[in-house]
Amino acid sequence: MKELKELTRENIWNLAPYSCARNEFSGKNARVYLDANENPYNSPYNRYPDPLQLEVKKQVARVKRVAEENIFLGNGSDEAIDLMYRCFTEPKIDNVVAIDPTYGMYKVCADINDVEYRTVSLQADFSLDGDRLLQACDSHTKIVWLCSPNNPTGNALDRNEIVKILNGFEGLVVVDEAYSDFSSQQPFRFDLEKYPNIVVLNTMSKAWGSAGIRMGMAFASKEIIDIMNKVKYPYNINSLTQKHALDILNDPYEVDKWVRTILLERTRVVDAFKMLPICRKVYPSDANFILVEVNDAQKTYDYLVDKGIIVRNRNSVHLCNGCLRITIGTKSENQELLAALRTM
Ligand SMILES: *Cc1c(COP(=O)(O)O)cnc(C)c1O
Repeated sequence: MKELKELTRENIWNLAPYSCARNEFSGKNARVYLDANENPYNSPYNRYPDPLQLEVKKQVARVKRVAEENIFLGNGSDEAIDLMYRCFTEPKIDNVVAIDPTYGMYKVCADINDVEYRTVSLQADFSLDGDRLLQACDSHTKIVWLCSPNNPTGNALDRNEIVKILNGFEGLVVVDEAYSDFSSQQPFRFDLEKYPNIVVLNTMSKAWGSAGIRMGMAFASKEIIDIMNKVKYPYNINSLTQKHALDILNDPYEVDKWVRTILLERTRVVDAFKMLPICRKVYPSDANFILVEVNDAQKTYDYLVDKGIIVRNRNSVHLCNGCLRITIGTKSENQELLAALRTM
């Protein structure tokens, strides 16, 4: 890995971050807060939230088994994705390399930040060729974007190919593990010391059932996390979100139950889908959705919309011709989907 200073934008490396009232006071035993121009009424919403979310991080650390200093919390993973560009890429000069197809936000944030976005196609079976990806990198490549299990293909990438990139690439490697709770593959967040250039993304939006609160996580070396914290908005995770995050993190058994139920349903939906006349192929899934190839994706999509059932049409996505992406719902929702498709 190159020196982190070399990978960081110069203005960001030199940045003196905004120092808010709650940053400057970190002592205990305070009773009277007259430091932040807050309104003394309307408790508890009158108070600014903890800018570094220490309580929440303590719980995340416990549940995810990652040290607090290695955790960044963002307004969804989307904030972490955007921050990677803002911290580490020079607009119009640097580039990033990503697998194709994958999650759309990596490219949108590249475009917003005016950073060249290079793609390396997955193989026809959606597997990753690490050597091919490394060949697309040059001295201006700052970030490699990997997503495993990948969206929209649903498969986990081969760990050895990811390791090849972690070892062979001199910049930062993001491994977005938004769906890792649904996969039997070993996650990368326990390997932060082994790979100083890794940034692992997790989210509350999928297994944790909390897309509405907007909270995502990045796990990385303390040095990388410190830079992200310096650039983020001071109060990026609001009080309501922090409160709900604490509640749900205190109930990981409930989350485990959801995940197990969804995985059972996934097996059932896959088996049933293969019996449908319209089905051409069901791709293997390590996530809470399946990618299926059908006879006529647009027609099937429109038919389902007409019945009030919305799936994702991925027909025009690279390597996904004729494909729909279908989230696994409750048993009755999945029944409704399958029943509708049987009578199509
Ligand atoms: C759903 C998803 C996320 C979650 O994004 P949030 O902003 O945390 O809701 C992140 N990465 C991938 C690949 C996803 O599919």
